[in-house]
Amino acid sequence: MSSSHITPTGNDGRLNPLLRSVFDKLDVAVVIANLQREIVMINAAAESLFQYSEEEIWGQKTKVLYASSDEFEEQGRQRYNATASETSIYTLSYARKNGETFEGETQGGPIHDEHGELIYFVGLIRDVSARLSAERTLNSLHSITSNQKLSFNERVDAILELGADHFGLPIAIFSKIDGATYTVIRAVHPENALSPGMTFELGNTYCSHVFEANDVQGFHHVAQSRINGHPCYQNFGLEAYLGSPIFVDGVRFGTLNFSSPEKTRPFTGQDIELVRLFADWIGNEIQRQRHLDSLTSARLEMERIAATDPLTGLGNRRMMETSLKKEVARAKRYGTDFSIAIIDFDHFKRINDRFGHQAGDDALKAFASIAQREARDEDLFARWGGEEFIAGLPCTTSAEAVKIMDRLASQLRSVIISDDESAPKLTISVGVAQLHGDESISSLLSRADDAMYLAKSSGRDHIVIHR
Ligand code: GH3
Ligand code: MG
Ligand code: MG
Repeated sequence: MSSSHITPTGNDGRLNPLLRSVFDKLDVAVVIANLQREIVMINAAAESLFQYSEEEIWGQKTKVLYASSDEFEEQGRQRYNATASETSIYTLSYARKNGETFEGETQGGPIHDEHGELIYFVGLIRDVSARLSAERTLNSLHSITSNQKLSFNERVDAILELGADHFGLPIAIFSKIDGATYTVIRAVHPENALSPGMTFELGNTYCSHVFEANDVQGFHHVAQSRINGHPCYQNFGLEAYLGSPIFVDGVRFGTLNFSSPEKTRPFTGQDIELVRLFADWIGNEIQRQRHLDSLTSARLEMERIAATDPLTGLGNRRMMETSLKKEVARAKRYGTDFSIAIIDFDHFKRINDRFGHQAGDDALKAFASIAQREARDEDLFARWGGEEFIAGLPCTTSAEAVKIMDRLASQLRSVIISDDESAPKLTISVGVAQLHGDESISSLLSRADDAMYLAKSSGRDHIVIHR
């Protein structure tokens, strides 16, 4: 070897200054220690990471860099010893001079000279606390958002708590903003000072800046920022704020924001991405819920239309067939009475012919409103077809059914269908049948029908019971 080759240490036991200046160019922290694990060099990145100057740490055991002295011993057994052979990558907790700890991804192990002699130990350390904490937060977010057992509010609350913890900002709010009104929808506050429904002027909240920018805004130390004249600072003294707009279906809905009366560390790009991700999840979830709600109400409306007679608003034949199945089954199961009545207008053709189709329609509507007024909650009335109606009457004997039908018929008689004084009264013929033991629905219906025809053939305007 020529004499110009770099020797690792000078006479003072310090690392060659040329090596040191090479290490200073690296952004990874480099710590070199001798076989006694005493520090012989730290580069500039390590000085700033651990907050020691090389002068003050030189000669100290690397133990001062560890968060736990047990870990120092353990690493000595594993890799920083005379028999250690190679470097490996691992992550552990380190301590800065001020006692603050962080997680460092480390590549470390022995350095040998050209004869294979162990001369130093080296450790290259990167602070991965932020990355690890973002990973943990993302994992938590995933388990919160995929937990089907939680309601929307419970998931939002869990996200508020997660964000408060991650950003170190203890006040967390999911807000809705309408015009100049800011409404708290969900909130986490260390003294429970915020509750759903509380409102503020948007202009008095830092969220006004989120709305102005239409994007995430962060202020980690308001006193020393451009917004230190903001009313929120004057009124509430909040020193730190991180907020994101929430969009639903592309329309701005409100904000997700985190704040603190204490200033905090400067926000990173990762913080901004995370708060946006949280806000996006809430926005998507509201959107999904809205779509579900409108699908549900469309389905209910379609079901209602499919079951309703458009002229009278009563149930239609389809609805009655479905209901009869349920009610008859129930009556059989509990052994309760059940009666039906089939109601047919008398000489309805004559009404149409003499007073017009509209008068006929009005008569049908008049019947429907009387029936709706007279019916108990559990009674079912439906238009069976044309000018024929049907009633399904739970817990009702045929004798009771006759009383109900009598009341209907007498009220119908007082309906005025025309100014013409000679206009006939509206009358109906009714057939009543009470469910027998385990008879079928079609048998019950045909007995009521037979009774109704008997009422017709025996003079109309009365009620016949099929026994
Ligand atoms: P009855 O039952 O007493 O034997 O005589 P009717 O005149 O009522 O005879 P039928 O039941 O055969 O005739 C029913 C008439 O009701 C025939 C039809 O024009 C009329 N009608 C059916 N549906 C409607 C409707 O929605 N509106 C009107 N205005 N009339 C209808
Ligand atoms: Mg008729
Ligand atoms: Mg008829």
